[in-house]
Amino acid sequence: MSDDTPSYGFDTLQIHAGSRPDPATGARQTPIYQSTAFVFRDAEHAAALFNLQEVGFIYSRLTNPTVAVLQKRIAALEGGVGAVCCSSGHAAQIMSLFPLMQPGRNLVVSTRLYGGTVTQFSQTIKRFGWTAKFVDFDDTDAVKAAIDEDTRAIFCESIANPGGYITDLPVIGRIADDAGLPLIVDNTSATPYLCRPFEHGATLVVHSTTKYLTGTGTVTGGAVVDSGKFDWAASGKFPSLSEPEPAYHGLRFAETFGPLAFTFHGVAVGLRDLGMTMNPQGAHYTLLGIETLSLRMRRHVDNAVKIANWLERDDRVEYVTYAGLESSPYFGRIETVCPRGAGALFTFALKGGYDACVKLVDSLELFSHVANLGDARSLIIHSASTTHRQLTAEQQRAAGAAQEVVRVSIGIEDADDLIADLDQALSKASS
Ligand SMILES: *Cc1c(COP(=O)(O)O)cnc(C)c1O
Repeated sequence: MSDDTPSYGFDTLQIHAGSRPDPATGARQTPIYQSTAFVFRDAEHAAALFNLQEVGFIYSRLTNPTVAVLQKRIAALEGGVGAVCCSSGHAAQIMSLFPLMQPGRNLVVSTRLYGGTVTQFSQTIKRFGWTAKFVDFDDTDAVKAAIDEDTRAIFCESIANPGGYITDLPVIGRIADDAGLPLIVDNTSATPYLCRPFEHGATLVVHSTTKYLTGTGTVTGGAVVDSGKFDWAASGKFPSLSEPEPAYHGLRFAETFGPLAFTFHGVAVGLRDLGMTMNPQGAHYTLLGIETLSLRMRRHVDNAVKIANWLERDDRVEYVTYAGLESSPYFGRIETVCPRGAGALFTFALKGGYDACVKLVDSLELFSHVANLGDARSLIIHSASTTHRQLTAEQQRAAGAAQEVVRVSIGIEDADDLIADLDQALSKASS
């Protein structure tokens, strides 16, 4: 399939976008190009590659043919112009910010984020001289008020981890647009099958490909996808992209690469100097996973709806926070933000509190107790006794990880088997 055929449907793109039979061997599946370096045709070819006058393969910290197929595929599924794959979702977040930020600059970010992202943004990025202002994204006045002269991006998740919350992307997209700032959306929990952030005004999408895109719990990875729609040169706020880049012998990325400026910068400066590179073996697993993304996501959502409804009616359960339940305050956002469903990640609270949660987790047979999500198999975690153990009870509650709450990532097994497993474990937990 050639690169300029984006009119195919999602199910076709997830199998074909970015790939073609291997020109050397005819191999139909994308080969794992397990090679660090690639031979230059001659000195002139080498010079053209290093000057970015010709696109090709030099060294696998920058580009690799297997990873390149995955980059094109993810870009096609999101409706973006380009993507850069990275070693993890957290690497992708840093890679998305790197061209935009400088010491003294800040981000305006949603309070409803993956726990690891809260730590990355509240603590670690301070070492770079960057700060994040955490705001309730349902309070649009507060989002607007948090933006100042030094703000360089707005960041949120589409369907937010730990589940049950959907960001009103069209509203946040308009705020970003009015402020002349890029909106970065972490689309990990939704995937492009359920939500397409670029259609709601996002500039960049980041992914932890570790989760649903791979879908098998095998490899960590990440991606930064560019919509190609932000005018970096006109803004004046992003000198790395619009002014001569000293880290690349004075190249002006926006002028030279137009809508692909961010993607080229991500490879030529970001991967070159930060080195958060995805390896070809990892890209292979993720490519295999993506081939069935839409089929899996449909099943994930169907199962999540069934199980959340069953739990909500069970009198051992205090409450269920899943945006796919009609009782959810965010149910009304599904139609605009994620019309194919609210994902498969949610939390529920047990009347028996902390002790019942621990017993539930220990009594389940099909659900695995792990710190992961987006696997084909169903997963559960009691955050208060694991990932959020160091927090005070108050901080746990604010993070959606209260003592009496467990988080589930519903897999694609038979829903009836999952319900039976929950039923027997709930009985043990509440006895
Ligand atoms: C897992 C996750 C991340 C971090 O990704 P890693 O691949 O673990 O680095 C970021 N955001 C969300 C929503 C996640 O679920």
